[in-house]
Amino acid sequence: MKSISILGSTGSIGTQTLSVVDENTDLKVVALTCGKNISLMEKQARKYKPKLVCVSGEEDANSLRVALKDTGIKVTSGMEGLIEAATMEEADIVLTAIVGMIGIRPTIAAIEKGKDIALANKETLVTAGHLIIPLAKKHQVSILPVDSEHSAIFQCLQGNRENTVDKILLTASGGPFRGKSYEELEHVTLEDALHHPNWSMGKKITIDSATMVNKGLEVMEARWLFDVPLSKIQVTVHPQSILHSAVQFEDGAIIGQLGTPDMRLPILYALFYPHRRELSGEKPDLFDIGSLTFEKPDFETFYGLQLAFDAANTGGNMPTIYNAANERAVALFLQGRISFLEIPELISKSMVEVDFCDDPTLEDILETEQNTYEFINSVCFRKIKAY
Ligand code: NDP
Ligand code: MG
Repeated sequence: MKSISILGSTGSIGTQTLSVVDENTDLKVVALTCGKNISLMEKQARKYKPKLVCVSGEEDANSLRVALKDTGIKVTSGMEGLIEAATMEEADIVLTAIVGMIGIRPTIAAIEKGKDIALANKETLVTAGHLIIPLAKKHQVSILPVDSEHSAIFQCLQGNRENTVDKILLTASGGPFRGKSYEELEHVTLEDALHHPNWSMGKKITIDSATMVNKGLEVMEARWLFDVPLSKIQVTVHPQSILHSAVQFEDGAIIGQLGTPDMRLPILYALFYPHRRELSGEKPDLFDIGSLTFEKPDFETFYGLQLAFDAANTGGNMPTIYNAANERAVALFLQGRISFLEIPELISKSMVEVDFCDDPTLEDILETEQNTYEFINSVCFRKIKAY
């Protein structure tokens, strides 16, 4: 029996993780957390009977306490509750499917308690990878990637630890706007941007895929997870999303992982690593797949991707500025307050204007996050007020 604490259980990755739990009776849920969706949280709590649940706000926690009072489940709220869920004595592994930098502190707390991490929450590694990776080594915990590309790379590296990696081939679908010019992107709507061709995901990552900022975040995630220099990471646009990523070794051999676009596979692999388990549903069939194609990314039109390489090359708190600016810009875009092209524009401006620091501590990272939000608020002040 493996006990699991799921941070962000009501989201896209969280609900798919619970469907993996449904199919594997040796997984037991000990804690669940969400932001505001307390009606789904009540259903999940009744079904999976965790010891603890956590929601964002104290008012929602009170409502949920009333709703769950016959169950004996403890209901907590806020960062304190998230950390309690991430550090529960009973949990063997913590699956981080929360969205955004809010995942940093619970992830660090879980590692300090010796919990293995199944990591979907890439923003945490992008901004605090230089703290998290050494901490995980110190506490001898595994960070098991859930992001499909990183899971693929991780799978390709099995049995190859001693071999020299020449290149990580990080695949990208290209999103809904692949092939469009900058001018064409001036008029795209929120609805267009939310229409991902291959994957059904939460709103934030869907917008990140449309700007290709998601791939930028993944470049930084790969660098921390696999300890490779940026020069060895090549983004490859592959519109079919069948090759989930690949590794090229020094002899030129390319080893890749293929599959249908189904997040349950990387979730399952992270939870049962190094073992594979049966997964329900259709298995991929090469005759049905037919052909796979590959293209170079358009770094000029989708310059949010180029900015990620720039941020990673600069280092220090620049990846945090990049990420925080993107988080705030995407939130504003989702609220209809800024246009699609203002997302990379705000990231770029923030990278120039927000105070840089070289070797950020956790406090510096959290302060940089706030500074970036304040900078964006000041730039968008009129828009935010007028709304
Ligand atoms: P969703 O938006 O679908 O879910 C996010 C989860 O986090 C929900 O449970 C949400 O609760 C909770 N949450 C949001 N804000 C807060 C907050 N302030 N405090 C506490 N909890 C909060 O996101 P996804 O599942 O799509 O993505 C989760 C993470 O996984 C992201 O980092 C993403 O980049 C990564 N990822 C996702 C993939 C996917 O296929 N979806 C693929 C690869 C990586 P509530 O429902 O109440 O709002
Ligand atoms: Mg991914």
